[in-house]
Formats: sequence, structure tokens, C-alpha cells
Amino acid sequence: MAFIDLRSDTVTKPGKAMLEAMFSAPVGDDVFSEDPTITELEVYAAKLFGKEAALFCPSGTMTNQIAIKAHTEPGNEVICDVNSHIYNYEGGGISFNSGVQAKLLQGQEGRLSAELIEPAINGDFDWLTNTRLVSLENTVNRAGGSYYTLAQIKPIHALCQAKNLKLHLDGARIFNALTESGESTLETGKYFDSISICLSKGLGAPVGSLLLGDKEFIKKARRIRKVFGGGMRQAGFLAAAGLYALKHNVERLKEDHLRAKKLEACLLALPYVESVLPVYTNIVIFNLKKEVISGEDFEKKLREKNIKISAFGKQTIRMVTHLDFTEDMLETSLNVLKSLV
Ligand SMILES: *Cc1c(COP(=O)(O)O)cnc(C)c1O
Repeated sequence: MAFIDLRSDTVTKPGKAMLEAMFSAPVGDDVFSEDPTITELEVYAAKLFGKEAALFCPSGTMTNQIAIKAHTEPGNEVICDVNSHIYNYEGGGISFNSGVQAKLLQGQEGRLSAELIEPAINGDFDWLTNTRLVSLENTVNRAGGSYYTLAQIKPIHALCQAKNLKLHLDGARIFNALTESGESTLETGKYFDSISICLSKGLGAPVGSLLLGDKEFIKKARRIRKVFGGGMRQAGFLAAAGLYALKHNVERLKEDHLRAKKLEACLLALPYVESVLPVYTNIVIFNLKKEVISGEDFEKKLREKNIKISAFGKQTIRMVTHLDFTEDMLETSLNVLKSLV
């Protein structure tokens, strides 16, 4: 029997229409810039966000790491939230790949503000690290899928301009954020020097992320991608899935958010649940009561009922809704959650 998989929105598999788009994609050697489907995807995505250029990469880790390297010199500092993916889940790449250190701030639900960032920017003294970059994450994975609005981003952008800092967006789930804020990709593009977007999260492509920026930045990023081993050949088959995802799977993200809200409502009423982080998009993070059940036992019990979830800490559980989590699966999951003690 098939599992209901709530571990991540990365678990989706391409459906028939996406596979057909992949099969029929014209391809070429992209290291020679000769893959028409990759070029089409890059142009499409850059335009969507009002950026000059884009770069197709194998993963969001790579797009973030390339951006950090392109924006900095060894010995510089990047300011980010303590929960951020670039710091927690990219294998120490900030220091390993770029020789850069992170200044970690405690944002509000993972969101930074100009007020928080300004005092963290180092002055121009020989003994202080040069602050070069600010990185925002939207939505914030570890903070339960909370998101920034442009009203929150604008002052950060203004501060970065005034202090000569670059501003990067880890927009792995930017379309989830925009679905809720109602704001546009074009407006979003105005406030960042670089943007990373994931095609293989909520959008349902099997592989791929894009890095967006101006022409000069993407030229530099292309060189770094090659150094990192991310120059791909006939990867247009993958880019075709990405194009399909961008064109067909953005509108429906609202459904994932509604299903996450239903999981939240159910969890809030359960006797073994201690607390639930407010659900804003497609991520549901909650804590189990220590005296009732451990995260490990909870995971096992659900696994017996064919549901996979991630333990995010000893008592903390994460569930993520996505394209392959259907209404029927939601009903089953709600019933199983209610049946556990
Ligand atoms: C998933 C994710 C990434 C990129 O992850 P990859 O698995 O390398 O594609 C980057 N940032 C955030 C916030 C993510 O959730």
C-alpha cells in the first residue's frame, strides 16, 4: 500500500503531463549554453521576477551557496536568521565554500527586520569582519512556514542599499509566500540582488532550482556553478519539468495551505499535543506532550498506519503538505491522528 508522505514537499513525483513535457523536451549541452529548454526556463523565470538573467542548478543548496560565494570574499560576514536553511542545512557550506562566517540573529518567527539587522552590521575597523550580505528566507522552513510581506522587506532593502550590502532571498518556497501575501513575483524581484527558487518543493518538479539576478551576477554565478560541479549537459529534460511546474503548479498551492490549516485545527484539539506553531502556509510544526508520547514513538505509530512524518526534535514533529497529498489522504490522516492516544 502506498504511504501518505508528510515528511516534506520534496517527495512529490512527476505526473503524466509533466512526464510528457519532459519526454518531448528539445535538449543540448548546457555547458556550451546549447540546451534550448534550459534557456527557455531561465528566460521564463528571470522575466517572472523582473530579473535580467537566471541559472538552472541541481539544488537549492547549490543556488544559495553560489549566491553567497558570488556576493562575498573570504573573511566576510553574512547576516541571517538563526533558523535559516543556509546556516543549518547546507553542511557548513557558508564557511566551506566561501570562507565566510554567519552572524546569526533571532528574528520574529524566523523573520528579520531592519531594526534587528542594523546594529549587527559591522563598522569599518581593521579588527571587525566585513559585513557584505544579508540573506532572508521566505517562507521560513524551521519557523513553521511563516512569510514576509513586501512591507517588511522594503525597509531591509533600504538599509542594505544605504550600507552597501547585498540582499539575497532564499525563496525555496517563495510561491507559497506569495500565495498568502497576494503579492507579485515582479514586485518581489525589485528588492533582491539575487533570488533562489526551488522547483522541486511545492511546485512538484523532480529536480532543480533557479538562481536569479542581473547579467553580471549570473555570469559570475555560472563560473561558480562549474567549479561546484553543477554544470549539467542535456538537463533540459529536467528543465522541462521545471517549466511545467511554474506554469501549472503555482495556482494550486492554496490547496496545500488549506489542508495544512485543517491539520492544524485537528492537532490543536488533540490531548497528546502540547502546542502547534501557527500555520501560515504548507508547513505544520507541533510539539507532543512529554508525559504522553515521544517524537520517536509518534513517528513509529504513524508509520504503522502508513503515514510518514519527520521528527524535528525530541518532541517536535513537522508535517508538510504538497501536490501529492490529496483530499482523501487528508481525511485518512485526520482520522489516524484522532485515533492515537
Ligand atoms: C529545501 C530548501 C532549500 C534547498 O534545498 P535542496 O534540497 O538543496 O534543494 C533551501 N532553502 C530552504 C528554506 C529549503 O527549505
